[in-house]
Amino acid sequence: MQTSYFSIVFQITQECPFSCDICLRHYELGSSPLTFQQKLQMIEVLKSLNVKRLSVSGGEPAVLGNSLFDFLKRVHDEQIHICLSTTGYGLTGAIIRDMDNYLDQMLISIRSLEIEQWQKDFGNTKYTTKLFHTVNDILRWIRTTGIILEVNTVLHKENFSQVLRLGEQLNTINSNMIWRIDEYYGIGLTRKFKDRFELDSDEFEEARQKIQDRFSGKFKSIRFTSKYDRIHSPNFLIDQTGDLISSSNYEHKKTGLNILELGDDKEIFEATAISWFGYQQVCRNWGWSY
Ligand code: SF4
Repeated sequence: MQTSYFSIVFQITQECPFSCDICLRHYELGSSPLTFQQKLQMIEVLKSLNVKRLSVSGGEPAVLGNSLFDFLKRVHDEQIHICLSTTGYGLTGAIIRDMDNYLDQMLISIRSLEIEQWQKDFGNTKYTTKLFHTVNDILRWIRTTGIILEVNTVLHKENFSQVLRLGEQLNTINSNMIWRIDEYYGIGLTRKFKDRFELDSDEFEEARQKIQDRFSGKFKSIRFTSKYDRIHSPNFLIDQTGDLISSSNYEHKKTGLNILELGDDKEIFEATAISWFGYQQVCRNWGWSY
């Protein structure tokens, strides 16, 4: 079977102006991030690995400003599908219109569209109210672009009714989106929230069915990812220093490899490759050509 290194996540920065209590950032502060030149070298390595899609996350990538946008353009120039995972921080209508020239997909995590809940989730910082309004605007601005919008919502023990309400609001504002609902699970330091937030499999299945019944056909698609699937789909992250971090079984572990110094260790990516069949399936689901 032909394999393809389909998709890799690049945590381009650890910086973020917010302070969510369920943040999954890989905490390894103090190490030097890749320079812009090194990031361009990284794109060359990704091409040699036949990577088809790069998902840029953080922290909050947009804190890097123009340096982020220039990097995304360079990835796009190499015909790698480029997805930006962002809170929406600092984005404007003009930036979104410009992104239409180079960005394939935007993934925004939204847990609620109620300002009080938003402040609880993100921390009541001076940036929070502004972000709330920006995200509401982005959902509208992006309708006039060809950027695929994916909204990611984490479902946990305490927020089922909030998720239903969110679904109604999202549907009113912009139904042309993939709504992805991930079952919460704690990883690394956030394991301490396990008892408070984690659902059992019956609870998740019941919630999944109710959401499906209520919103079937109301969005471009609704995708659910169970805790089981998330835990048993090991993958690699590239952190801001270029180090490869394996993410599986509730943990982030350093592999001791750096994306710029792989040498003969490239086969380690076999573990993260999805099959060519899987790649085609994803393309069909999302309406991409392959
Ligand atoms: S916005 Fe994301 S990266 Fe920032 S603190 Fe919240 S969960 Fe963590």
